[in-house]
Amino acid sequence: MERLTSPRTIKYIMEKYDFKFSKGLGQNFIIDDSVIERIVDGSDLSADDVVLEVGPGIGVMTEALCEHTKKVVSIEIDKFLIPVLKETVGRFEHLKVINQDVLKVDLMQLVKDEFGDQKPKLIANLPYYVTTPIIMKFLEERIPVSDLIVMIQKEVADRMVAKPSTKDYGALSVAVQYFTEPMIVTKVSRGSFMPMPGVDSTVIRLKVRTEPPVVLLDEETFFNTIKDAFGKRRKTLLNALSSGHLKISKDQAKRALALAEIPEIMRGEALSIHEFATLSNAIYTVKREG
Ligand code: SAM
Repeated sequence: MERLTSPRTIKYIMEKYDFKFSKGLGQNFIIDDSVIERIVDGSDLSADDVVLEVGPGIGVMTEALCEHTKKVVSIEIDKFLIPVLKETVGRFEHLKVINQDVLKVDLMQLVKDEFGDQKPKLIANLPYYVTTPIIMKFLEERIPVSDLIVMIQKEVADRMVAKPSTKDYGALSVAVQYFTEPMIVTKVSRGSFMPMPGVDSTVIRLKVRTEPPVVLLDEETFFNTIKDAFGKRRKTLLNALSSGHLKISKDQAKRALALAEIPEIMRGEALSIHEFATLSNAIYTVKREG
């Protein structure tokens, strides 16, 4: 068989297995070898590494991951791709393919069973329709992975790395930067996939923090503060905080902002993660006082 990135190989597979691309499952396969090289380089892979892959497709990236690491576990939802993967990457004895929906599988158990105490790197060309839910599942449930190196829609990656007071800065920026240190690995144009998607992509590396970047009295209050502050972008903080998930009165919001020394008329998009921590700690304190 020719290289897996060759469109001819994809056509051969489609004919042999009567396979049809599923738009609903976000199936856009890489046909550009340089993209694979950039993902491998950006992941700093070594022979001692173990990898969890989501959505191997026909196995283009899986093949490279198997060549560079000691164990790869790939979760693929589409049962029609399982016999294909057997032909394309079945020769690797240190590869295990699991036919499951990554959003439904017990990831904590799976990672423990497959990798023991060693934290895998999560590496994936993610389906666009579930990019954020998959990433947030790993982060919020604190699935023990050391890094997430993922190809996602360019605009979503821009939001993840955005700084305060920029147009892309929002709840996703603060949440991702709370759990990880994000960095852009490389940009990938839509022409690098078959079929060609309607958007460009970015490979982003999220290095999972071992210590949080801020001290919080209560994590739930922190995330509710972010949701409320960005949920009503056009409102001042005073109005946004007293009309959402936090369930505090205007008087309590006023007292919390004073305690945090943040002006009432500011907007959420101007606050750094450290200011959000100070504010949410003040809200937690005021709420406890009643
Ligand atoms: N890794 C391949 C590549 O780069 O060419 C395929 C990437 S394609 C963008 C996304 C893959 O994820 C598809 O193979 C699709 O079937 C699979 N997929 C979609 N939703 C999934 C889910 N919830 N759980 C596991 N795999 C999923």
